[in-house]
Amino acid sequence: MIPARRRLLTVLAGVSLSAFAPSAPPSYSIDAIRYATVPQFPLRALVMGAPESEKLDIAMAVWLIRGSGKVILFDTGFHREKWMKQFTVTDYVRPDEALRAAGVPPETVTDVVISHAHWDHMGGIDLFPQATVWIQKDEFAYYTGAAWQPGGRHGGIDPEDIAVLVHLNTEGRLRLVDGDDVEILPGLRAYTGARHTFASQYVRVDGEAPVVLASDNCYLYRNLEARAASATFTPEDRDANLGPRSA
Ligand SMILES: [Zn+2]
Repeated sequence: MIPARRRLLTVLAGVSLSAFAPSAPPSYSIDAIRYATVPQFPLRALVMGAPESEKLDIAMAVWLIRGSGKVILFDTGFHREKWMKQFTVTDYVRPDEALRAAGVPPETVTDVVISHAHWDHMGGIDLFPQATVWIQKDEFAYYTGAAWQPGGRHGGIDPEDIAVLVHLNTEGRLRLVDGDDVEILPGLRAYTGARHTFASQYVRVDGEAPVVLASDNCYLYRNLEARAASATFTPEDRDANLGPRSA
């Protein structure tokens, strides 16, 4: 559905990094599969310091990355009814059905890379029965443990997703990515540090014009243009979200 459409928010920001193109890049195609809209969402929740009155319709999307014999999904959306009640969601198509409508049977997905454990990114990990699922090791450890202890933070985390995640691990279908700048699949590297959640990650997809898929680590180009952090694990993490200012 709506391939090649850039995602506005809960996910995304494709940034061309052509200066870093390798000599023989893997050939991946990248499509955004839009599966819902969250209308009139307050911008202030996405761009710290934005005016209170500004709102936008959020395009909910997952990213489909194909090449090198792989069918990779970056994030999985959501499907549980409780979230439809908590948020206004329009134009909804369950993410696996949205993928099918784009010509990709969900059972052909070989790998799912989860940017972070929030409900609208990890809520569809049970929809792709053959996929190996990748998540940061520290994200897995925190949200299956300390997040639910006194002093822990689990806002936006669905306990049912965590149960699925643990089950995937015991089934041998989970892979834990250990830290920053790790190649998890050929030409696909994971990066950490933005701290949208405890250990959120984003990916760079190699190609003639490499692309960064930022997910909620950077919602909008406006985050980059205004040098304004997106939502972070704690307010103290905003500096980490922005990173050092380049010369
Ligand atoms: Zn998030």
